[in-house]
Amino acid sequence: MFKFLKRLRAKKEEQPTQLGVEQTDYLPAEQQSANMAEAPIQVPQEEIASDIAVEPEFQEPPAEPSPADREKVLEQTPRPREPSDTKSKPANTPSVEEVVEVELPKRSLSNGIRSLFSSSIELDDLEDILLLADFGVEASVEITESLRKAANKSGASSDAELRLLLKDLLIEKLHRNDLQLNLSDGKLPYVFLIVGVNGAGKTTTIGKLSKWLRDGEWEVVLGAADTFRAAAVDQLATWADRSGAGIVRPERDGQDPASVAYQTVELAIKNDADIAIVDTAGRLQNKKDLMDELGKIRRAVEKQAQINEVLLVIDATTGQNAINQAKAFTEVADVTGIVMTKLDGTAKGGIVYTIQQQLNLPVKLVGVGEGVNDFAFFSAEEFANGLVTRRS
Ligand code: GDP
Ligand code: MG
Repeated sequence: MFKFLKRLRAKKEEQPTQLGVEQTDYLPAEQQSANMAEAPIQVPQEEIASDIAVEPEFQEPPAEPSPADREKVLEQTPRPREPSDTKSKPANTPSVEEVVEVELPKRSLSNGIRSLFSSSIELDDLEDILLLADFGVEASVEITESLRKAANKSGASSDAELRLLLKDLLIEKLHRNDLQLNLSDGKLPYVFLIVGVNGAGKTTTIGKLSKWLRDGEWEVVLGAADTFRAAAVDQLATWADRSGAGIVRPERDGQDPASVAYQTVELAIKNDADIAIVDTAGRLQNKKDLMDELGKIRRAVEKQAQINEVLLVIDATTGQNAINQAKAFTEVADVTGIVMTKLDGTAKGGIVYTIQQQLNLPVKLVGVGEGVNDFAFFSAEEFANGLVTRRS
């Protein structure tokens, strides 16, 4: 399960007891040390105590922790503060500086992936089926061959056995260790840039991400740096409204996207937000323009914060074209991950495989519908399962 670090708000007064519980009686000693081993960094108890001691009167009334947060506090692993954190702030600044490990609401891929098969698997047809599903020639041949070998070796011949073997093969090929969104280094606010051609699903993806993070009680600021179309700004504003995120809009049509990006990060810092997500325009007249524009946005953001993710949004229904677009973007932007949208609308799920292989980039998120909850973290297991499950 992914772990995420966000700011801990308005829960400070409850920490001593809960930490005490965790560190004394909650777990047997050996389990405690196993937990410690997973913890990114440990903070000595005295340090936690002195953090609390220097800020005795917390201004806001202590809010009742949500069930999600209560759960988290038991397993939280506080991190040492950055030197710049509280010490550089006035003493009466609300204490929102603690970083806490949290989980976020689950999203599932399961219904969005179309099966490759409407009838039994035939080894002789598999290569064509994979080709039709956009696995590409090389992979289609390779996967079919591997399945044939594995079936010979294990004596598998029934439909169910072959499906299981194919599923395992796909999982092995699709799994990567860098699928997690970078929401865990604790350097707040996180900043995500969302790039991709028009219509790929950038704004929708931002809306989904924003809602998901808000559901997990994150403070989110969106930046409408797609400043060339008023409708694009309004669309993002609607998502901000729906999800309860802050938004920075351009002050006039066509305002420099980099200045919107700058103001977005500025607002995120001012509001002690956890994350700023910047929408960008998807114009791709030529590589130089795109490179200049994205470069400028990046530099504007980096004046105040680090960029945690540059997510390239790709429409899965556009097939080979998607790969060409993706290549163009990865050449000019330091893309850190792919968001593959509209997988619900295509039987060509193999594009996920092809993109990962050809670009050597992780597919981190998958869009499986237009609804606000219709996305998931990419999971090789869920994806492979969806592809091989026979739908009647
Ligand atoms: P942008 O131009 O890249 O910002 O793209 P938009 O976010 O405006 O999306 C373009 C269209 O694709 C909209 O009609 C969205 O509702 C639709 N869309 C986005 N993601 C998905 C998805 O995962 N599945 C489906 N079926 N439609 C999607
Ligand atoms: Mg848009």
